Amino acid sequence: MSEVIERESMEVDVVIVGAGPAGLSAAIRLKQLSPDLAVVVLEKGAEVGAHVLSGAVVDPIGVDALLPGWCDQENHPFKTPVTEDRFAILTKSGGMTVPGFLMALMPPLMNNHGNFIVSLGNVCRWLGEKAEALGVDIFPGFAAADLVYDDTGAVVGVVTGDMGVQRDGTQGPGFAPGMELRAKYVLLGEGARGSLSKKAIAKFGLAEGCEPPKFGLGLKEVWEVLPGNHQPGLVQHSFGWPLDNKTGGGSFLYHMEDNKVAIGFVVHLNYANPYLSPFQEFQRFKSHPHIRKVLEGGSRLSYGARAITEGGFQSVPRLTFPGGALQRCSAVGRPSAQ
Ligand SMILES: Cc1cc2nc3c(=O)[nH]c(=O)nc-3n(C[C@H](O)[C@H](O)[C@H](O)COP(=O)(O)OP(=O)(O)OC[C@H]3O[C@@H](n4cnc5c(N)ncnc54)[C@H](O)[C@@H]3O)c2cc1C
Repeated sequence: MSEVIERESMEVDVVIVGAGPAGLSAAIRLKQLSPDLAVVVLEKGAEVGAHVLSGAVVDPIGVDALLPGWCDQENHPFKTPVTEDRFAILTKSGGMTVPGFLMALMPPLMNNHGNFIVSLGNVCRWLGEKAEALGVDIFPGFAAADLVYDDTGAVVGVVTGDMGVQRDGTQGPGFAPGMELRAKYVLLGEGARGSLSKKAIAKFGLAEGCEPPKFGLGLKEVWEVLPGNHQPGLVQHSFGWPLDNKTGGGSFLYHMEDNKVAIGFVVHLNYANPYLSPFQEFQRFKSHPHIRKVLEGGSRLSYGARAITEGGFQSVPRLTFPGGALQRCSAVGRPSAQ
């Protein structure tokens, strides 16, 4: 029989799960609209931005609307405007770069005029500061572990994870029960395949009538490269080698400030070859002559990987449920087979 755990409880107006761009933007907007609202953001990373992993080339349209005049402020994280887009179709030892006039015909993802190359972690840290300045309470290091329901089945809050649980599930000597955060509204901004989002989607049947969503695995490294190999603002994408023509995916190489580049590889997770390893494909990609010459003499500063939602619109579930709503990438974290 499971033990009943006594929990401390706190009551606020809105609880937001996840301090990614979606959760923090929502927190800022809520306080702009209604400064007296008590808004809490829970973030499972040790600090805001710690668990955020992205390319990233960002269209500032959302920030323009949320924080007008941001570009006149000091210390904003949008340091590197895109200066050039290059798109290549790679073969094992060479490849073809799409000529400039054809780039204008490419999908918007490949046309980045007016966009910025950023560290999304830094964008989140900056948004976090803006949110706190407006009075939002951000609690890093606290994962929301479950949803709380009322008698009607509506969501009325979340519970943070218990600390000090032993491997066998029993309470260890340092056990500290998670806290119950009750709220009038709960926003789930957990990113791709968030655990509470999956629960809400399943419980409220939000994905009924939708197509199954598509996911990819994004692998990314940040390198400091030799100054001669660096062209700030250059955005490079590629398709083709090392993936075969039955496997979806491609690469990105973004030249940020301070001789840093973000290099990454995305593999769509519907690949048919059971021996394919997305990580190994990324390593092979880095050995391509076009890519190796950028990295040679440089050093890798960080690396990571994360699931990416790849849509499309036909797989976006209903976004609201009694007591709350799904945000951005959380919205496509549909349960697989539960
Ligand atoms: C390799 C890669 C490259 C990309 N490149 C680009 C690009 O160039 N341009 C672009 O626009 N987009 C890009 N994306 C996509 C972009 O990163 C996402 O669209 C964006 O981060 C989604 O924001 P979000 O706030 O929904 O979720 P996230 O950024 O994933 O943030 C979710 C946050 O919630 C926290 N969290 C999750 N669950 C819980 C929980 N239960 N309790 C507490 N906290 C929780 C996480 O720690 C995280 O901080 C890329 C993604 C990847 C992986």
